[in-house]
Amino acid sequence: STEHPTTSATTTDPEGEPTMTAPQRRRVAYVLPVYDEQDNVATFQAALAEATARRDDLDFEFVYVDDGSRDASLERLLALRAADERVTVLALSRNHGHQLAVTAGLDAVTGSADAVVVMDTDLQDPPAVSLELIEVWERGVDVVYAQRRTRRDSAFKRATAWLFYWLLARLAEIEIPRNTGDFRLMDARVVAEVGRYREHNRFLRGIVAQVGFRQEAVLFDRDERLAGSTGYPLRKMLSFAGHGIMGFSTTPLRMISRAGILISVLSVLGAVYVVFLRFFRPDEVVPGWAFIMVALFLLSGLQLIMMGVIGSYLGRVFVEVQGRPLYSVALAARGHGAPRDEPS
Ligand code: UDP
Ligand code: MG
Repeated sequence: STEHPTTSATTTDPEGEPTMTAPQRRRVAYVLPVYDEQDNVATFQAALAEATARRDDLDFEFVYVDDGSRDASLERLLALRAADERVTVLALSRNHGHQLAVTAGLDAVTGSADAVVVMDTDLQDPPAVSLELIEVWERGVDVVYAQRRTRRDSAFKRATAWLFYWLLARLAEIEIPRNTGDFRLMDARVVAEVGRYREHNRFLRGIVAQVGFRQEAVLFDRDERLAGSTGYPLRKMLSFAGHGIMGFSTTPLRMISRAGILISVLSVLGAVYVVFLRFFRPDEVVPGWAFIMVALFLLSGLQLIMMGVIGSYLGRVFVEVQGRPLYSVALAARGHGAPRDEPS
C-alpha cells in the first residue's frame, strides 16, 4: 500500500536534487539474537545503551530476536522494551538457530535503517566496539566486520575453527575473512542485498562476503560469555560448518569424479600388473584373498562416503524445493521508537 512515495516524509533521493529540509538523522539498528540469555540481556542492554549514548546525533533501534528461549529471556526482553522505547522484541515461534534469528531481525529492519549492526547478546562482542564499526561506516565503508584479534575460547574450539576456515578457503569460491563471526555492521544497501538470499541452510558471513561492496575489518578482543552456556554445541558447529562449505562450494561434488578417475586409473594399472604376473611369473601368483578383501572394503567405504556427499547436496536441494518459510514469528513488539507501525 506504499506505492506513492510522495506521501512519505523521507527526502533521500540518491540521484535527485539536494532537498531543502534539515539534514536527516541517520538511523542505526542493532539486530540482537537471544537464546537462553536471561542472565545476560539486561547487562548487555545497559552496556549497549551506555555505549551508544555518546552518539546523540544518531537514532538507534535495538531489535532483540528471541529464538525460542527456554528460560525467562523473553520476559526480560519485554521488560527492557517497557523501559526503553528504542527496544523492539521479536519472538520466533521456536528455536530456529542463530542464523535464522539474525535473518528475522534483518528482515524486520530492512528499509528502515541506514545501517545495521549484528552482534551477540552474551557480551562476547563488546558493545563499545560497535561504535568503532559505526565510525568506519561513516567514512563510507559498506560492510565493517569485527575481526577477533584474540579470543578466549577453548583450545578445541580454536583448533576446529582454524581447520574449518582453512578448508573453506580451499574449497569455497568466495573469500571469507578469517576470525570473524557475525559481529558486523552492514550498510542499508548491503542489508537489502543480503535479504535477497533466501536459502534455508544459511551461512550469513558467506552471504555477506558474496554480496561484495566495500568491506573493511576492525580488530577487537573477544571476551568470554558473561553467563550461561554456548548455544553452539559441537553438533550444531559441525552442521554449520557443513552448510558453510556446501552453500558456497561444489568442490566436494567434483572431488568425487576426481577420486573415481584416480581409482579407475589405479585399477587399470593393477590389471596390467596381474596380466604381467600371469604370463611371465605364473609361479609367483598368490591366492590374493587379502588383497581382494582390502580392496572390497576400501572401495565400498569410498562409495558410501561419496554417496553421502551427493546425499548432502541432494538434501539441500530438497529443502529449497519445498520452499517453506525460513522462520515463524510468534510475537512482534515493536518499540515506540520504531519507524514502522505494526502490521494491522
Ligand atoms: N543464539 C541464537 N539461537 C541459537 C543459538 C544461539 O539466537 O540457537 C544466539 C545467542 O543467544 C548469542 C549468539 O546467538 O547471542 C551466539 O551464540 P553463542 O554465544 O551460544 O555461540 P558462541 O559464542 O559460543 O559461538
Ligand atoms: Mg557466545
